[in-house]
Amino acid sequence: MQQYSILNLAKHALSGHMRWSRTFGGRKLRKRYDVIIVGGGGHGLATAYYLAKNYGITNVAVLEKGWLGGGNTGRNTTMVRSDYLLPANADFKEFSLQLWEELSQKLNYNVMLSQRGYVSLACSDAEMEAKTQQANALRLRGIDCNILNIDELKKVCPELDVRQNTRYPIQGALYQARGGIARHDAVAWGYARGAHNKGIDIFENCGVEDFIINNNRVSGVKTAKGDIMADTVVVSVAGSSGLMAAKAGFTLPIETLSAQAFVSESLKPIINQVVSFDTGYAFINQSDKGELVMGGHMEPHNGYHQRGGFDRIENTLSTLVTLFPFLSRVRIMRTWGGMVDNSMDGAPILGDTPVERLLFNSGWGYTGFKATPASGWTMAHHIATGEPHDLSEPFKLSRFRDGSLVDEHGTGPYPTAY
Ligand SMILES: Cc1cc2nc3c(=O)[nH]c(=O)nc-3n(C[C@H](O)[C@H](O)[C@H](O)COP(=O)(O)OP(=O)(O)OC[C@H]3O[C@@H](n4cnc5c(N)ncnc54)[C@H](O)[C@@H]3O)c2cc1C
Repeated sequence: MQQYSILNLAKHALSGHMRWSRTFGGRKLRKRYDVIIVGGGGHGLATAYYLAKNYGITNVAVLEKGWLGGGNTGRNTTMVRSDYLLPANADFKEFSLQLWEELSQKLNYNVMLSQRGYVSLACSDAEMEAKTQQANALRLRGIDCNILNIDELKKVCPELDVRQNTRYPIQGALYQARGGIARHDAVAWGYARGAHNKGIDIFENCGVEDFIINNNRVSGVKTAKGDIMADTVVVSVAGSSGLMAAKAGFTLPIETLSAQAFVSESLKPIINQVVSFDTGYAFINQSDKGELVMGGHMEPHNGYHQRGGFDRIENTLSTLVTLFPFLSRVRIMRTWGGMVDNSMDGAPILGDTPVERLLFNSGWGYTGFKATPASGWTMAHHIATGEPHDLSEPFKLSRFRDGSLVDEHGTGPYPTAY
Protein backbone atom coordinates (compact mmCIF):
# COMPACT_ATOMS: atom_id res chain seq x y z
CA MET A 1 0.00 0.00 0.00
CA GLN A 2 2.84 2.35 0.94
CA GLN A 3 3.82 2.46 -2.74
CA TYR A 4 0.59 4.35 -3.46
CA SER A 5 0.70 6.91 -0.63
CA ILE A 6 0.35 10.61 -1.50
CA LEU A 7 3.94 11.18 -0.40
CA ASN A 8 5.15 8.51 -2.78
CA LEU A 9 3.07 9.90 -5.64
CA ALA A 10 4.61 13.34 -5.04
CA LYS A 11 8.12 11.84 -4.83
CA HIS A 12 7.64 9.99 -8.14
CA ALA A 13 6.19 13.09 -9.80
CA LEU A 14 9.17 15.21 -8.76
CA SER A 15 11.66 12.59 -9.95
CA GLY A 16 9.95 12.45 -13.37
CA HIS A 17 8.61 8.94 -12.61
CA MET A 18 12.09 7.57 -13.36
CA ARG A 19 12.16 5.26 -10.36
CA TRP A 20 8.56 4.11 -10.49
CA SER A 21 8.63 0.33 -10.06
CA ARG A 22 7.31 -1.80 -12.93
CA THR A 23 3.72 -3.00 -12.71
CA PHE A 24 4.41 -6.05 -14.87
CA GLY A 25 7.06 -7.48 -17.17
CA GLY A 26 10.82 -6.88 -16.90
CA ARG A 27 11.64 -10.56 -16.34
CA LYS A 28 13.82 -12.83 -18.47
CA LEU A 29 12.04 -15.09 -20.94
CA ARG A 30 12.64 -18.71 -19.98
CA LYS A 31 12.94 -21.67 -22.34
CA ARG A 32 10.17 -23.67 -20.70
CA TYR A 33 6.89 -23.02 -18.86
CA ASP A 34 4.05 -25.20 -17.61
CA VAL A 35 1.56 -22.98 -19.44
CA ILE A 36 1.93 -20.45 -22.24
CA ILE A 37 -0.90 -18.02 -22.86
CA VAL A 38 -0.87 -16.46 -26.31
CA GLY A 39 -2.46 -12.99 -26.26
CA GLY A 40 -2.23 -10.31 -23.59
CA GLY A 41 -5.80 -9.02 -23.78
CA GLY A 42 -8.20 -9.13 -20.85
CA HIS A 43 -9.05 -12.81 -21.41
CA GLY A 44 -5.43 -14.03 -21.56
CA LEU A 45 -4.42 -11.95 -18.54
CA ALA A 46 -7.48 -13.01 -16.52
CA THR A 47 -6.64 -16.64 -17.31
CA ALA A 48 -3.10 -16.09 -16.03
CA TYR A 49 -4.32 -14.36 -12.88
CA TYR A 50 -6.86 -17.07 -11.96
CA LEU A 51 -4.36 -19.86 -12.73
CA ALA A 52 -2.13 -18.39 -10.03
CA LYS A 53 -4.84 -17.32 -7.62
CA ASN A 54 -7.20 -20.30 -7.79
CA TYR A 55 -4.76 -23.12 -8.51
CA GLY A 56 -1.27 -21.90 -7.49
CA ILE A 57 0.00 -22.46 -11.06
CA THR A 58 2.59 -19.73 -11.60
CA ASN A 59 5.13 -21.19 -14.03
CA VAL A 60 3.21 -19.38 -16.75
CA ALA A 61 4.13 -16.92 -19.51
CA VAL A 62 1.76 -14.53 -21.27
CA LEU A 63 3.09 -13.70 -24.75
CA GLU A 64 1.62 -10.61 -26.38
CA LYS A 65 2.52 -9.60 -29.90
CA GLY A 66 1.89 -5.86 -29.32
CA TRP A 67 1.08 -4.15 -26.04
CA LEU A 68 -1.21 -5.34 -23.25
CA GLY A 69 -4.83 -4.50 -23.91
CA GLY A 70 -4.01 -3.13 -27.38
CA GLY A 71 -6.48 -5.51 -29.05
CA ASN A 72 -10.23 -5.54 -28.50
CA THR A 73 -9.83 -5.12 -24.76
CA GLY A 74 -8.75 -1.52 -25.36
CA ARG A 75 -11.09 -0.97 -28.31
CA ASN A 76 -14.49 -2.04 -27.10
CA THR A 77 -17.37 0.06 -25.89
CA THR A 78 -17.13 -1.35 -22.34
CA MET A 79 -20.69 -2.55 -21.80
CA VAL A 80 -21.30 -5.24 -19.20
CA ARG A 81 -24.55 -7.05 -18.46
CA SER A 82 -25.95 -10.55 -18.07
CA ASP A 83 -29.44 -10.34 -19.59
CA TYR A 84 -29.06 -13.12 -22.17
CA LEU A 85 -31.90 -15.48 -22.97
CA LEU A 86 -30.39 -18.98 -23.18
CA PRO A 87 -29.31 -20.57 -19.88
CA ALA A 88 -25.72 -21.24 -21.02
CA ASN A 89 -25.19 -17.61 -22.04
CA ALA A 90 -27.09 -16.10 -19.12
CA ASP A 91 -25.36 -18.21 -16.45
CA PHE A 92 -21.90 -17.51 -17.86
CA LYS A 93 -22.47 -13.77 -18.13
CA GLU A 94 -24.16 -13.60 -14.72
CA PHE A 95 -21.18 -15.32 -13.08
CA SER A 96 -18.98 -12.82 -14.90
CA LEU A 97 -21.06 -9.89 -13.66
CA GLN A 98 -20.72 -11.17 -10.11
CA LEU A 99 -16.94 -11.32 -10.56
CA TRP A 100 -17.02 -7.77 -11.99
CA GLU A 101 -18.84 -6.56 -8.90
CA GLU A 102 -15.92 -7.52 -6.65
CA LEU A 103 -13.07 -7.08 -9.13
CA SER A 104 -11.73 -3.70 -7.99
CA GLN A 105 -11.44 -4.99 -4.42
CA LYS A 106 -9.95 -8.34 -5.39
CA LEU A 107 -7.34 -6.80 -7.70
CA ASN A 108 -6.85 -3.69 -5.55
CA TYR A 109 -7.16 -1.86 -8.85
CA ASN A 110 -10.04 0.41 -9.78
CA VAL A 111 -11.68 -1.04 -12.90
CA MET A 112 -14.29 1.73 -12.65
CA LEU A 113 -17.31 -0.54 -12.86
CA SER A 114 -20.32 1.74 -13.15
CA GLN A 115 -23.61 -0.17 -12.79
CA ARG A 116 -25.71 2.59 -14.26
CA GLY A 117 -28.30 0.32 -15.89
CA TYR A 118 -28.62 -1.29 -19.31
CA VAL A 119 -31.64 -0.34 -21.40
CA SER A 120 -32.51 -2.47 -24.41
CA LEU A 121 -35.19 -0.66 -26.43
CA ALA A 122 -38.14 -2.20 -28.27
CA CYS A 123 -40.11 -0.46 -31.01
CA SER A 124 -42.86 -2.95 -31.88
CA ASP A 125 -45.35 -5.19 -30.09
CA ALA A 126 -43.45 -8.26 -31.26
CA GLU A 127 -40.21 -6.92 -29.85
CA MET A 128 -41.88 -6.05 -26.54
CA GLU A 129 -43.23 -9.57 -26.34
CA ALA A 130 -39.80 -11.06 -27.00
CA LYS A 131 -38.23 -8.82 -24.35
CA THR A 132 -40.94 -9.75 -21.85
CA GLN A 133 -40.27 -13.42 -22.50
CA GLN A 134 -36.56 -12.77 -21.98
CA ALA A 135 -37.17 -10.89 -18.71
CA ASN A 136 -39.36 -13.73 -17.43
CA ALA A 137 -36.79 -16.37 -18.37
CA LEU A 138 -34.03 -14.43 -16.65
CA ARG A 139 -36.01 -13.83 -13.49
CA LEU A 140 -36.81 -17.53 -13.27
CA ARG A 141 -33.02 -18.09 -13.23
CA GLY A 142 -32.64 -15.53 -10.44
CA ILE A 143 -31.11 -12.88 -12.70
CA ASP A 144 -32.42 -9.37 -12.09
CA CYS A 145 -34.11 -7.68 -15.00
CA ASN A 146 -37.45 -6.04 -15.72
CA ILE A 147 -39.62 -4.46 -18.39
CA LEU A 148 -40.08 -0.70 -18.55
CA ASN A 149 -43.16 0.83 -20.12
CA ILE A 150 -42.89 4.20 -21.83
CA ASP A 151 -43.53 6.26 -18.71
CA GLU A 152 -40.97 4.32 -16.71
CA LEU A 153 -38.51 4.52 -19.60
CA LYS A 154 -38.90 8.29 -19.85
CA LYS A 155 -38.02 8.62 -16.16
CA VAL A 156 -34.89 6.49 -16.56
CA CYS A 157 -33.87 8.09 -19.83
CA PRO A 158 -35.35 11.60 -20.10
CA GLU A 159 -33.50 12.56 -23.31
CA LEU A 160 -35.00 9.67 -25.28
CA ASP A 161 -37.59 10.67 -27.88
CA VAL A 162 -40.61 8.47 -27.19
CA ARG A 163 -43.05 10.21 -29.52
CA GLN A 164 -44.99 7.67 -31.58
CA ASN A 165 -44.85 9.43 -34.95
CA THR A 166 -41.10 8.98 -35.44
CA ARG A 167 -39.08 6.48 -37.48
CA TYR A 168 -38.79 4.23 -34.41
CA PRO A 169 -41.88 4.47 -32.19
CA ILE A 170 -40.41 3.16 -28.94
CA GLN A 171 -42.75 0.88 -26.95
CA GLY A 172 -40.65 0.14 -23.87
CA ALA A 173 -37.47 -1.65 -22.91
CA LEU A 174 -35.81 -4.55 -21.17
CA TYR A 175 -33.88 -3.10 -18.26
CA GLN A 176 -31.06 -4.56 -16.19
CA ALA A 177 -30.16 -2.20 -13.36
CA ARG A 178 -26.90 -4.04 -12.61
CA GLY A 179 -25.67 -3.63 -16.19
CA GLY A 180 -23.34 -0.78 -17.07
CA ILE A 181 -19.79 -0.06 -18.14
CA ALA A 182 -16.23 -0.54 -16.87
CA ARG A 183 -12.89 1.01 -17.77
CA HIS A 184 -11.48 -1.37 -20.40
CA ASP A 185 -7.73 -0.64 -20.09
CA ALA A 186 -7.88 -0.88 -16.33
CA VAL A 187 -9.14 -4.44 -16.57
CA ALA A 188 -6.06 -5.48 -18.56
CA TRP A 189 -3.68 -3.56 -16.29
CA GLY A 190 -5.33 -4.81 -13.10
CA TYR A 191 -5.18 -8.46 -14.14
CA ALA A 192 -1.61 -7.96 -15.45
CA ARG A 193 -0.41 -6.50 -12.17
CA GLY A 194 -2.22 -9.20 -10.19
CA ALA A 195 -0.72 -11.98 -12.31
CA HIS A 196 2.78 -10.44 -12.27
CA ASN A 197 2.69 -10.08 -8.47
CA LYS A 198 1.82 -13.77 -8.20
CA GLY A 199 4.92 -14.71 -10.24
CA ILE A 200 3.58 -14.94 -13.77
CA ASP A 201 5.86 -13.70 -16.58
CA ILE A 202 4.36 -11.26 -19.07
CA PHE A 203 6.09 -10.28 -22.32
CA GLU A 204 5.00 -7.61 -24.78
CA ASN A 205 6.28 -7.42 -28.38
CA CYS A 206 6.58 -11.21 -28.37
CA GLY A 207 4.24 -12.55 -31.05
CA VAL A 208 3.73 -16.29 -31.47
CA GLU A 209 4.55 -17.25 -35.06
CA ASP A 210 3.82 -20.97 -34.94
CA PHE A 211 3.18 -23.95 -32.69
CA ILE A 212 5.49 -26.86 -31.97
CA ILE A 213 3.33 -29.97 -32.27
CA ASN A 214 4.54 -33.58 -31.92
CA ASN A 215 2.25 -36.58 -32.36
CA ASN A 216 -0.78 -34.27 -32.30
CA ARG A 217 0.21 -32.82 -28.92
CA VAL A 218 1.39 -29.25 -28.50
CA SER A 219 4.78 -28.89 -26.83
CA GLY A 220 5.61 -25.23 -27.34
CA VAL A 221 5.52 -22.16 -29.54
CA LYS A 222 7.85 -20.41 -31.97
CA THR A 223 8.45 -16.69 -31.46
CA ALA A 224 10.84 -14.11 -32.86
CA LYS A 225 12.64 -14.44 -29.52
CA GLY A 226 13.11 -18.19 -29.99
CA ASP A 227 11.24 -21.41 -29.25
CA ILE A 228 9.54 -21.71 -25.87
CA MET A 229 8.36 -25.08 -24.63
CA ALA A 230 5.23 -25.69 -22.55
CA ASP A 231 2.95 -28.53 -21.42
CA THR A 232 -0.16 -26.50 -22.25
CA VAL A 233 -0.72 -23.64 -24.69
CA VAL A 234 -3.81 -21.44 -24.51
CA VAL A 235 -4.66 -19.18 -27.45
CA SER A 236 -6.62 -16.06 -26.53
CA VAL A 237 -6.12 -13.78 -29.52
CA ALA A 238 -9.68 -12.61 -30.36
CA GLY A 239 -9.77 -11.54 -34.04
CA SER A 240 -6.68 -13.56 -34.93
CA SER A 241 -8.08 -16.94 -33.81
CA GLY A 242 -8.70 -18.22 -37.34
CA LEU A 243 -5.12 -17.46 -38.34
CA MET A 244 -3.73 -19.21 -35.27
CA ALA A 245 -5.97 -22.25 -35.75
CA ALA A 246 -4.70 -22.56 -39.33
CA LYS A 247 -1.12 -22.69 -38.00
CA ALA A 248 -2.15 -25.58 -35.74
CA GLY A 249 -3.73 -27.38 -38.70
CA PHE A 250 -7.47 -27.03 -38.07
CA THR A 251 -10.31 -24.69 -38.99
CA LEU A 252 -12.60 -22.86 -36.58
CA PRO A 253 -16.26 -22.23 -37.51
CA ILE A 254 -15.81 -18.49 -37.29
CA GLU A 255 -15.60 -15.48 -39.53
CA THR A 256 -13.68 -12.34 -38.73
CA LEU A 257 -15.19 -8.91 -39.21
CA SER A 258 -14.21 -5.43 -38.18
CA ALA A 259 -16.41 -3.75 -35.58
CA GLN A 260 -16.30 0.00 -35.33
CA ALA A 261 -16.91 2.44 -32.49
CA PHE A 262 -16.79 6.21 -32.26
CA VAL A 263 -16.88 8.90 -29.60
CA SER A 264 -18.16 12.46 -29.52
CA GLU A 265 -16.62 15.52 -27.97
CA SER A 266 -16.99 15.66 -24.18
CA LEU A 267 -20.35 16.77 -22.83
CA LYS A 268 -21.77 17.28 -19.37
CA PRO A 269 -23.61 14.17 -18.10
CA ILE A 270 -26.64 13.68 -20.32
CA ILE A 271 -27.14 9.96 -20.95
CA ASN A 272 -27.09 8.16 -17.65
CA GLN A 273 -27.64 4.60 -18.83
CA VAL A 274 -26.29 2.31 -21.48
CA VAL A 275 -28.90 2.38 -24.24
CA SER A 276 -28.99 -0.25 -26.93
CA PHE A 277 -31.40 -0.69 -29.82
CA ASP A 278 -31.21 -3.93 -31.82
CA THR A 279 -33.72 -2.98 -34.53
CA GLY A 280 -31.79 0.13 -35.53
CA TYR A 281 -28.36 -1.46 -34.86
CA ALA A 282 -27.09 1.20 -32.50
CA PHE A 283 -25.99 1.71 -28.92
CA ILE A 284 -24.75 4.60 -26.84
CA ASN A 285 -23.32 5.32 -23.40
CA GLN A 286 -21.44 8.21 -21.87
CA SER A 287 -17.93 7.69 -20.56
CA ASP A 288 -16.70 9.20 -17.32
CA LYS A 289 -14.76 11.71 -19.45
CA GLY A 290 -18.08 12.90 -20.87
CA GLU A 291 -17.63 11.49 -24.36
CA LEU A 292 -20.60 9.72 -25.88
CA VAL A 293 -19.44 6.24 -26.88
CA MET A 294 -21.37 4.85 -29.84
CA GLY A 295 -21.41 1.89 -32.15
CA GLY A 296 -23.60 -0.22 -34.36
CA HIS A 297 -23.44 -3.18 -36.66
CA MET A 298 -20.18 -4.78 -37.80
CA GLU A 299 -18.66 -4.08 -41.20
CA PRO A 300 -20.41 -6.05 -43.96
CA HIS A 301 -17.34 -7.94 -45.20
CA ASN A 302 -14.73 -10.22 -43.65
CA GLY A 303 -11.34 -8.72 -42.94
CA TYR A 304 -8.47 -8.30 -40.53
CA HIS A 305 -8.43 -4.52 -40.27
CA GLN A 306 -8.94 -2.31 -37.24
CA ARG A 307 -11.00 0.42 -38.83
CA GLY A 308 -14.41 0.76 -40.43
CA GLY A 309 -16.20 2.55 -43.24
CA PHE A 310 -18.16 5.82 -43.15
CA ASP A 311 -21.43 4.11 -44.07
CA ARG A 312 -21.54 2.42 -40.64
CA ILE A 313 -21.05 5.75 -38.91
CA GLU A 314 -23.81 7.26 -41.03
CA ASN A 315 -26.27 4.39 -40.39
CA THR A 316 -25.60 4.28 -36.69
CA LEU A 317 -25.85 8.02 -36.21
CA SER A 318 -29.05 8.30 -38.21
CA THR A 319 -30.63 5.82 -35.77
CA LEU A 320 -29.19 7.50 -32.71
CA VAL A 321 -30.29 10.97 -33.83
CA THR A 322 -33.84 9.64 -34.17
CA LEU A 323 -33.68 8.31 -30.61
CA PHE A 324 -31.83 11.30 -29.15
CA PRO A 325 -32.49 14.37 -31.33
CA PHE A 326 -29.99 16.54 -29.38
CA LEU A 327 -27.22 14.43 -30.95
CA SER A 328 -27.62 16.25 -34.27
CA ARG A 329 -25.64 19.14 -32.75
CA VAL A 330 -22.85 16.99 -31.28
CA ARG A 331 -19.51 16.53 -33.07
CA ILE A 332 -17.83 13.14 -33.51
CA MET A 333 -14.26 13.28 -32.25
CA ARG A 334 -12.67 9.98 -33.26
CA THR A 335 -13.42 6.51 -34.56
CA TRP A 336 -11.62 3.16 -34.52
CA GLY A 337 -12.23 -0.52 -35.12
CA GLY A 338 -11.34 -3.94 -33.78
CA MET A 339 -11.23 -7.42 -35.32
CA VAL A 340 -13.88 -9.71 -33.89
CA ASP A 341 -14.32 -13.43 -34.39
CA ASN A 342 -17.92 -14.50 -34.82
CA SER A 343 -18.86 -18.12 -34.38
CA MET A 344 -21.69 -19.62 -36.39
CA ASP A 345 -24.09 -19.78 -33.43
CA GLY A 346 -23.02 -16.45 -31.93
CA ALA A 347 -21.60 -18.08 -28.77
CA PRO A 348 -17.93 -18.36 -27.84
CA ILE A 349 -15.65 -21.34 -28.44
CA LEU A 350 -13.81 -22.35 -25.28
CA GLY A 351 -11.49 -25.21 -24.45
CA ASP A 352 -10.11 -28.25 -26.22
CA THR A 353 -9.17 -28.36 -29.89
CA PRO A 354 -8.17 -31.24 -32.20
CA VAL A 355 -4.58 -30.79 -30.91
CA GLU A 356 -3.96 -32.16 -27.41
CA ARG A 357 -3.24 -29.60 -24.68
CA LEU A 358 -3.82 -26.75 -27.14
CA LEU A 359 -6.82 -24.76 -25.87
CA PHE A 360 -8.61 -21.93 -27.65
CA ASN A 361 -10.66 -19.05 -26.33
CA SER A 362 -12.41 -17.36 -29.25
CA GLY A 363 -15.62 -16.54 -31.08
CA TRP A 364 -16.85 -13.82 -28.72
CA GLY A 365 -17.98 -11.46 -31.43
CA TYR A 366 -19.24 -8.27 -29.84
CA THR A 367 -19.85 -9.86 -26.47
CA GLY A 368 -16.50 -10.72 -24.91
CA PHE A 369 -15.56 -7.74 -22.74
CA LYS A 370 -18.29 -8.42 -20.19
CA ALA A 371 -17.21 -12.07 -20.15
CA THR A 372 -13.55 -11.33 -19.34
CA PRO A 373 -13.54 -12.37 -15.66
CA ALA A 374 -15.60 -15.55 -16.15
CA SER A 375 -13.67 -16.48 -19.25
CA GLY A 376 -10.37 -16.27 -17.33
CA TRP A 377 -11.84 -18.13 -14.37
CA THR A 378 -13.28 -21.03 -16.39
CA MET A 379 -10.26 -21.33 -18.69
CA ALA A 380 -7.95 -21.53 -15.66
CA HIS A 381 -10.19 -24.32 -14.32
CA HIS A 382 -9.92 -26.21 -17.61
CA ILE A 383 -6.11 -25.91 -17.72
CA ALA A 384 -5.67 -26.91 -14.09
CA THR A 385 -8.11 -29.83 -14.00
CA GLY A 386 -8.03 -31.00 -17.61
CA GLU A 387 -11.84 -30.74 -17.71
CA PRO A 388 -14.09 -27.88 -18.80
CA HIS A 389 -15.77 -25.85 -16.08
CA ASP A 390 -19.54 -26.48 -15.86
CA LEU A 391 -20.17 -22.95 -17.15
CA SER A 392 -17.89 -23.25 -20.19
CA GLU A 393 -18.77 -26.84 -21.11
CA PRO A 394 -21.65 -25.81 -23.44
CA PHE A 395 -19.18 -23.73 -25.46
CA LYS A 396 -16.91 -26.58 -26.52
CA LEU A 397 -15.75 -26.65 -30.14
CA SER A 398 -17.18 -30.12 -30.68
CA ARG A 399 -20.75 -28.71 -30.47
CA PHE A 400 -20.47 -27.76 -34.13
CA ARG A 401 -20.00 -31.44 -34.94
CA ASP A 402 -22.59 -32.98 -32.61
CA GLY A 403 -25.20 -30.23 -33.13
CA SER A 404 -25.54 -29.01 -29.53
CA LEU A 405 -25.42 -25.36 -30.60
CA VAL A 406 -26.03 -22.44 -28.25
CA ASP A 407 -27.94 -20.50 -30.84
CA GLU A 408 -29.31 -17.39 -29.21
CA HIS A 409 -30.80 -15.06 -31.74
CA GLY A 410 -29.46 -11.65 -30.84
CA THR A 411 -26.35 -12.53 -28.85
CA GLY A 412 -24.27 -13.09 -31.92
CA PRO A 413 -23.45 -10.84 -34.76
CA TYR A 414 -26.73 -11.25 -36.66
CA PRO A 415 -28.43 -9.10 -35.60
CA THR A 416 -25.94 -7.24 -33.53
CA ALA A 417 -25.83 -7.43 -29.75
CA TYR A 418 -23.19 -6.04 -27.52
C1 LIG B 1 -15.71 -1.85 -31.40
C2 LIG B 1 -15.95 -2.98 -30.45
C3 LIG B 1 -16.90 -2.83 -29.45
C4 LIG B 1 -17.13 -3.86 -28.55
N1 LIG B 1 -17.99 -3.63 -27.52
C5 LIG B 1 -18.17 -4.56 -26.57
C6 LIG B 1 -19.00 -4.29 -25.45
O1 LIG B 1 -19.51 -3.19 -25.30
N2 LIG B 1 -19.18 -5.28 -24.53
C7 LIG B 1 -18.61 -6.50 -24.67
O2 LIG B 1 -18.85 -7.37 -23.83
N3 LIG B 1 -17.76 -6.78 -25.70
C8 LIG B 1 -17.52 -5.84 -26.64
N4 LIG B 1 -16.67 -6.07 -27.69
C9 LIG B 1 -15.98 -7.38 -27.76
C10 LIG B 1 -14.79 -7.41 -26.82
O3 LIG B 1 -13.99 -6.27 -26.99
C11 LIG B 1 -13.91 -8.65 -27.04
O4 LIG B 1 -14.72 -9.80 -27.12
C12 LIG B 1 -12.94 -8.86 -25.89
O5 LIG B 1 -12.31 -7.64 -25.53
C13 LIG B 1 -11.91 -9.87 -26.31
O6 LIG B 1 -10.87 -9.88 -25.35
P1 LIG B 1 -9.60 -10.78 -25.63
O7 LIG B 1 -8.70 -10.64 -24.47
O8 LIG B 1 -10.05 -12.12 -26.04
O9 LIG B 1 -9.00 -10.15 -26.96
P2 LIG B 1 -7.98 -8.94 -27.21
O10 LIG B 1 -8.14 -7.85 -26.21
O11 LIG B 1 -8.12 -8.57 -28.65
O12 LIG B 1 -6.58 -9.60 -26.94
C14 LIG B 1 -5.99 -10.51 -27.84
C15 LIG B 1 -4.53 -10.16 -27.91
O13 LIG B 1 -3.86 -11.16 -28.67
C16 LIG B 1 -2.79 -10.54 -29.32
N5 LIG B 1 -2.31 -11.41 -30.39
C17 LIG B 1 -2.88 -11.65 -31.60
N6 LIG B 1 -2.14 -12.51 -32.29
C18 LIG B 1 -1.08 -12.84 -31.52
C19 LIG B 1 0.04 -13.69 -31.69
N7 LIG B 1 0.23 -14.37 -32.81
N8 LIG B 1 0.95 -13.78 -30.68
C20 LIG B 1 0.77 -13.08 -29.51
N9 LIG B 1 -0.27 -12.25 -29.32
C21 LIG B 1 -1.19 -12.14 -30.30
C22 LIG B 1 -3.35 -9.22 -29.79
O14 LIG B 1 -2.33 -8.27 -30.03
C23 LIG B 1 -4.25 -8.83 -28.62
O15 LIG B 1 -3.63 -7.95 -27.72
C24 LIG B 1 -16.42 -5.09 -28.64
C25 LIG B 1 -15.45 -5.23 -29.65
C26 LIG B 1 -15.21 -4.19 -30.53
C27 LIG B 1 -14.15 -4.35 -31.58
